Amino acid sequence: MQQITSIPQMRAIARELRSGGKRLALVPTMGALHEGHLSLVRKARLLADAVVVSIFVNPMQFGPHEDFSRYPRDLERDLSQLRHLDVKAVFAPSRQEMYPAGFATCIEPGAAGEILEGAFRPGHFRGVATVVFKLFQIVTPDVAVFGQKDFQQTVIIRRMVEDLNLPVRIALAPIVREETGLAVSSRNAYLSAEQRVAAGLLHQALTLVQNAYWKGERHPEALEREMRSLFQPGTPAVVDYAVVADPVRLQSVEQAQPGCVALIAARLGTTRLIDNQILGPRHASADQLIEAVLSFAKSAEPPAAEPASAAEKQRLKVENCRDCAAISSIILPPREYLARFVQEFYPQPQQVTTLVVGRDAPWNARHYLYRNPQGHDLFLARLYTLLGVTGFSDFAARFALTDALRCHSLATPVAPGAWQHCARHLPGDMEMFLGLRNIVLLGDVAYQQFYGAVLARAVSERTFGEALAENGWAVDDLPYPGHTARSPLRVITCYHPALSSRTPCIAHLLK
Ligand code: AMP
Repeated sequence: MQQITSIPQMRAIARELRSGGKRLALVPTMGALHEGHLSLVRKARLLADAVVVSIFVNPMQFGPHEDFSRYPRDLERDLSQLRHLDVKAVFAPSRQEMYPAGFATCIEPGAAGEILEGAFRPGHFRGVATVVFKLFQIVTPDVAVFGQKDFQQTVIIRRMVEDLNLPVRIALAPIVREETGLAVSSRNAYLSAEQRVAAGLLHQALTLVQNAYWKGERHPEALEREMRSLFQPGTPAVVDYAVVADPVRLQSVEQAQPGCVALIAARLGTTRLIDNQILGPRHASADQLIEAVLSFAKSAEPPAAEPASAAEKQRLKVENCRDCAAISSIILPPREYLARFVQEFYPQPQQVTTLVVGRDAPWNARHYLYRNPQGHDLFLARLYTLLGVTGFSDFAARFALTDALRCHSLATPVAPGAWQHCARHLPGDMEMFLGLRNIVLLGDVAYQQFYGAVLARAVSERTFGEALAENGWAVDDLPYPGHTARSPLRVITCYHPALSSRTPCIAHLLK
């Protein structure tokens, strides 16, 4: 087993290993090797004639306040573990070798890099994609093996390989777990005894989801609730996200199906842990579930978009984040943004009796109601059914819609703190419609925004679920916030129509 630190030397050895048509596999790692990494090496050995393992703690994928400096490093121990596994070469370059002075070029993953882990670790996947791209250029593997453990990473790498026509096959290996079910991870070393027990909840939550799926539950919200149910307030594990998504774009699905994946991330003190479970038939092996992911319908892929220019990207970012308006001359400031649509569509704003608060067409900003008033999509179809209106003009005669998430509105899940921040705009939005008698809150974020930020009550996602448990809606008659002279306000809370059709038509509840 050769130990290599220089890029030219690694290239020369790769050329030699691939000579005579031999297949070369790469297993990229950050070291501190454990059974999970070793399982990847064994799989690589089955898929190729020669295996190279890279060990590099990649500074570019760590945020400024993350654990780069304390990340465990023990090269000697790593080498001794690999010696038994028929590894031809270990490539362990220095930081200087990979990122010499003047380094400037990065791989920018698309939308899948900005959600879930990407929302909590901005720039993380840019760092991952860049270093993996470099490793592919240096080692020139025929196949590279990645762990299902970092599911979103595998999505981003597969996308990069396809988009940039890289001549490498991506293979995935199942998650290796401790006896307790906890996914083996280098970061488990940071956990105290108490945190280690709580860390077991991640796998338990995934097991609950899997069982519910096996029993026939297909509704993503129900599956997600199942996952969160174990994390009661006071548990040392705090959930960052718990979602069921398609395995190609990691977007929400209408119905869970084989190959969809339940993803969870939680914080235990300063340590973040991630885990996932691919959904599929009860008797499917871990490898069969991975197959279901790899063959998941191509239809989950969006139609190819023209690569956006930097200016276009900036424009979209600003449009989707109305608060960015403050730093941009491209678009109007937040208040005026809604005002523009009010002027356009509501010649008599006092005729609006109901303000609908919700995340406007969460999947695609191009479908936003006021930008595309004659549009047809799932959100609009269900919104109109919910309100009992026939189309846009019927809607605009009595209703107005305001996006509850003016910032980060494309990020799923919503970035932490975004809803409190965006809720500042709601009272101003309400002021624009002096005839308001009803507020319709679409989904848990709008609920938290209105009750938490506008009425300053203590709320949680749990209270949202409980409020709706009986009818799929909840009604609350309140004194008009901030106006003793105005008639009371009726607040109707519903599921977000793009996420669930469980709220029936609420037309009879409107005043
Ligand atoms: P890391 O060293 O954390 O960058 O991980 C290197 C590779 O090992 C990645 O492809 C991981 O997904 C994979 N890996 C990490 N933990 C596990 C595990 N418990 N089971 C299987 N693969 C894993």
